[in-house]
Order: sequence, then structure tokens, then C-alpha cells
Amino acid sequence: MDLSWSESEQAFRAEARAWLEENLAAWHAEHGGREAIASGDTRTGFAQHLAWERRLHAGGWAAVSWPAAYGGRDASLWEWLIFEEEYYRADAPPRVTQNGIFLLAPTVFEFGTPAQQAHVLPRMTAAEDLWCQGWSEPDAGSDLAAISSRATRVDGGWRLDGQKTWTTRGAFCTHLFGLFRTDPASERHRGLSYLLVPLDTLGVTVRGFGRLDGDEGFAEVFFDDVFLADDAVPGGVLLGDEGEGWRVAMATTGSERGLTLRSPGRFLATAARLIELYRSHPAPRLRERITEAWMRAEAYRLFTLDTVTRLAGGAVMGADSSINKIWWSELDCELHELALELLGPAAEVEGPWSKGWQFSLSGPIYAGTNEIQRNIAAERVLGLPRT
Ligand SMILES: Cc1cc2nc3c(=O)[nH]c(=O)nc-3n(C[C@H](O)[C@H](O)[C@H](O)COP(=O)(O)OP(=O)(O)OC[C@H]3O[C@@H](n4cnc5c(N)ncnc54)[C@H](O)[C@@H]3O)c2cc1C
Repeated sequence: MDLSWSESEQAFRAEARAWLEENLAAWHAEHGGREAIASGDTRTGFAQHLAWERRLHAGGWAAVSWPAAYGGRDASLWEWLIFEEEYYRADAPPRVTQNGIFLLAPTVFEFGTPAQQAHVLPRMTAAEDLWCQGWSEPDAGSDLAAISSRATRVDGGWRLDGQKTWTTRGAFCTHLFGLFRTDPASERHRGLSYLLVPLDTLGVTVRGFGRLDGDEGFAEVFFDDVFLADDAVPGGVLLGDEGEGWRVAMATTGSERGLTLRSPGRFLATAARLIELYRSHPAPRLRERITEAWMRAEAYRLFTLDTVTRLAGGAVMGADSSINKIWWSELDCELHELALELLGPAAEVEGPWSKGWQFSLSGPIYAGTNEIQRNIAAERVLGLPRT
């Protein structure tokens, strides 16, 4: 394996680094300085972050590996990894468009019709349409196949009824990609369909609610006798075939757990900051654990380079994305826990390490809990018998 970067890749890195430095400073200044930027999971912060997303888009950095026709810059997956490293190294903000760009978009590329792709993708990169994920329900979390929200075929569209919950940033988004039961006689994974729903459709109620840390990061979404016209999203509201929603959704989870949602750059930057923190707060008893955590971040980077090599060779991510997800989510907890141990009582509850730690604790839950990922890895990667 050749682990060196070509001259053009190094030039790409330098260009990304320079752009991020200049534009982050400008974005901070526009909003009264870095300290004045609120969490993207608050109403004020979301608006600030949208301004950032639109700046990224204007510079051609919103989705670097996409075709230019959809708002990308035709970069390779390797260059995307480089961009991600630079993004987190620069301490650029979390992407409030991530559930669209990193979860829905790869699925639209795989299953969308040309008309859907032409409409959905450019508006997504431009942060004009903001997408949230409407899968979980009060009685369908880990057991996602228990979905009971219904979509019934009617003349010219669908009639929707039901409820979604834990919809990240749902209160601030314009559109939802949801799973609905379209065959009332079906059970479990069969008879589901993947629908694209504008949240301003009559009969949709979005009720934001606060998290323990006070941010209004979640919403419940209610569908009461909603008429969703076939052309409510130009190109069509059905993504993939009717009744094939589970298969389409599994492609989304491959992106969520596998390559796109949590790239190594995020953890490499956190590990580098942890090492810096150690220099200012040395604690020899933690040296070994910190070194190991840093090595795990590096290992994730090497593993991902191998993944990209395989994908470039035509492989697709399957159940092994579950192993990936266990790795990055547990690594994130470890890196933040170590920082809090270094800081001791000096760790401020609202400080970046504490806030980061609080969020890291949700990593083993979202994108499918790690217990479920271990079941998948045991049964589908290792071929162990079902329990
Ligand atoms: C930060 C965050 C953001 C989220 N964003 C979204 C979003 O945008 N859209 C969305 O649709 N959902 C979202 N979710 C919801 C998430 O997908 C669910 O929380 C997750 O799937 C678990 O479901 P649950 O909360 O109902 O827990 P449960 O399914 O009730 O699980 C409770 C516990 O039981 C364990 N368990 C359950 N079944 C098994 C089993 N068979 N074997 C072993 N252990 C088991 C679980 O691992 C867990 O520890 C988000 C969650 C979080 C924390």
C-alpha cells in the first residue's frame, strides 16, 4: 500500500487549509467572534451555522467528492479524506447539513432517479433544503423493523399517519427522509417504503424538544392524515421502489456507520488536541492510555484508507460498517474521558471538552446502538449463530 500523497493531493490540502483559515476567521468575525457562535443545535446557532454552510458551498467545499453539477468539486475519495482532516484540524464547526449530505445523499446517488438527483442534490449542498432523518418511533428504535407509521397509496400521492421521534435538528429542517409502512399487511422489514417529505406539508407537526444539555437538538414529528403529493419533491417523493424501503435504508446506514458520517479527521484532530492538553496538564499515570487512544485514532485512519482503496476497486460497504461504528464511537468517548481526567476539577461544565464528552456519550447510541452493531458483527461478519 502506498501511503504517500501525490503532489496534486498535497496542493489540494494546501488549498483547503488556506481557504478554511481565511473563511473561518471571516465567519467568526461576521458573528461577533468565535465565542459568540452558539451550538448548531440551538435556533440561534443553527442560523449561524447555516451561514457557514452557505459559505462552504460558495467556495465549492460543501461536498468535495460530488460531481460539480450537484455543487461538488469532483474530488476523489482520497481528497475528501484530506479535506476532512483539514476541516477538523482547523476546528471548523459541526456540519448542520450532515444528515442530508452524509446520510441521504449517498442513497440518492445510489437509488434516486436522474430527476430526483437533479432536484435534491444541488439544493442540499447549497443548504437550501435541510434534511432530517425520520426513522425512529416511540416503539421502533433498535427494533427499527417495528415501524408503524403508515403511508397509504391514494390518487396522486400518499396519505401519511404516525409519529417519528429523536429527529436530529428536526425543528430547524425543511425536509425529512422517512421510513413508512406502505403495505398494511406486511410485517417487519417487508412492506416499508422510503419517502421524501417536505416538513411544511399540511398535517405535519414538528415539535422540537430540549436535550439534557439544554440544546433543542431533537424533534418529534407527527403525521396526521397528511396528503403527500407524488411531486411534492420534484422528481418524486418515493426513493427506490415501493416496498423496498428496508433495502434502501440499509444503504443509508452503511454511510452512517461506515465511511461518510464520521471520518478519521474528526478523531485525529481530537487526539492531537488531547496530546496538546497533556503538555499543559501532564499526568504520567495517563500517558499509556493517551498514547493508546492516539494510536487508535491513527489505526482508524489507516483502516479508512484501506476502506477507500476497496471502495475505489468496486467493493461496497456491508455489515462491516457496524465494526467501523463501534470503533469510532468508543474512540470518541475514550478521547474525551481522558481529557476530562487530565483537566480534573478544572474541566468546565460548559467547556469544549465537557460538551464534547457529553455528545460522545451519545455515539454508542445513535446510528444504531453498539449492542446492535455487535449483534450484526457477530452474525453477519463472523457468521456466529443468532442468539
Ligand atoms: C444523539 C442522537 C441522535 C439521534 N438522531 C436520530 C435521527 O435523526 N433520526 C432517527 O430516526 N433517530 C435518531 N436517533 C435515535 C436512535 O436511532 C435510537 O436512539 C437508537 O436506535 C436506539 O433506539 P432506542 O433509543 O429506542 O433504544 P432501545 O431500542 O429501547 O434500546 C435500549 C437499550 O437496549 C439495548 N437493546 C435493544 N435491543 C437489543 C438487542 N436485540 N440486543 C442487545 N441489546 C439490545 C440497546 O442497545 C439499548 O442499550 C438519535 C439518537 C441519539 C442518541
